[in-house]
Amino acid sequence: MPFESEIRRALAELERSGLLRNPPPISGPQGPEVSIDGRPILCLCSNNYLGLANHPAIAAAVQASLRIDGVGSAASRLITGTMDAHREAEAAFADFLGTPAAALFSTGYAANLGTVQAVVGPGDVIFSDALNHASLIDGCRLSRARVQVFSHRSADHLESLLRQHRHAAKRALIITDSLFSMDGDIAPLKELAGLARSFDAGLLVDEAHALGVFGPEGRGLAAAEGVEPDLIVGTLGKSFGVAGAFVAGSEEAVALIRNRARSFVYSTAPPPMLARAAIAALELVRNANGARRVLLGHADALRSGLRQLGFDVPPGSSQILPVLIGGNERTMRLSAQLLDRGVFVQGIRPPTVAEGTARLRLTAMATHRPEQIAFAIKAFASLDEAEIGDLR
Ligand SMILES: *Cc1c(COP(=O)(O)O)cnc(C)c1O
Repeated sequence: MPFESEIRRALAELERSGLLRNPPPISGPQGPEVSIDGRPILCLCSNNYLGLANHPAIAAAVQASLRIDGVGSAASRLITGTMDAHREAEAAFADFLGTPAAALFSTGYAANLGTVQAVVGPGDVIFSDALNHASLIDGCRLSRARVQVFSHRSADHLESLLRQHRHAAKRALIITDSLFSMDGDIAPLKELAGLARSFDAGLLVDEAHALGVFGPEGRGLAAAEGVEPDLIVGTLGKSFGVAGAFVAGSEEAVALIRNRARSFVYSTAPPPMLARAAIAALELVRNANGARRVLLGHADALRSGLRQLGFDVPPGSSQILPVLIGGNERTMRLSAQLLDRGVFVQGIRPPTVAEGTARLRLTAMATHRPEQIAFAIKAFASLDEAEIGDLR
């Protein structure tokens, strides 16, 4: 069977290049510790930054929703799927971000895929940061607009691309993550917003990792810097501890997205319980200033502890810290050694990151205890010298 043998060949190729992914199954809920093969393991690779994934108030909102709304949403939002819960969640998130409107999606992936394709198309041009999330890249592809990739966080490179390519296109859209998911560094949002104004381009900012962590009430990095992008994408599966996403912007932009985003139009609406869970999570996120401080304090402690051990941890101030390793197999061996020592840190390999920059990616949680952070640093200190000697 040629098809089956081709599939086997592709899998074997992944395995040969150290790229076969085989994540461990987690039993029980997501928390600062998770259960793997019956062992309690310190989890340092979750995006559940505020520890809300297992919060009783959110679980109670889901239970209440089951009584009020039932389970399913029955159809696309454009058929019979627009329910009270969806409208209330959209109003709550528009209010949170201070935009006139917002549209709810089932996932951040779907939100990015649909949003980019809804607002630009053939004849338009997109300017996209080199390290943007895969869902934004896929949205660019689906849009069939021309794509110009600017060097990571380089407003200068963006400006020169705008000078070269803006005039030939009808519409232009600048796209960036605010807090980059695999590097933990931050986009120069003010400069990007200035360039968007000067060159008559829209600005789409993906706040997936920043929302809930930065800005007043956790409203994200754009809010923290006083920048007002045309479109903000926020996801609900990370700090909010739920699942789903929204796109916030003007009434007109959101109306266009509701009409044209293929992942919105041609997909069953998210279950109403997800919308109600998001509303409950929003209340918790707004009031989580203390948790935000603890979270960033833990990240700083990890960053300085690992630096003192000699690891290559780039400067940063967010809850995401990459420990650069380089090789794929070596990264995964180190991840396995850490798991043996009771610490779950995921290795990140190409194509998620560039070839030769495989890394361990650590994320702190507000619900970690200081002893757990110290335990993690000890685990790194005890890694096999043969494996890490030349890294330091
Ligand atoms: C996680 C993530 C997404 C996708 O969101 P999901 O809700 O997980 O599908 C989009 N953009 C960025 C930057 C992300 O980190």
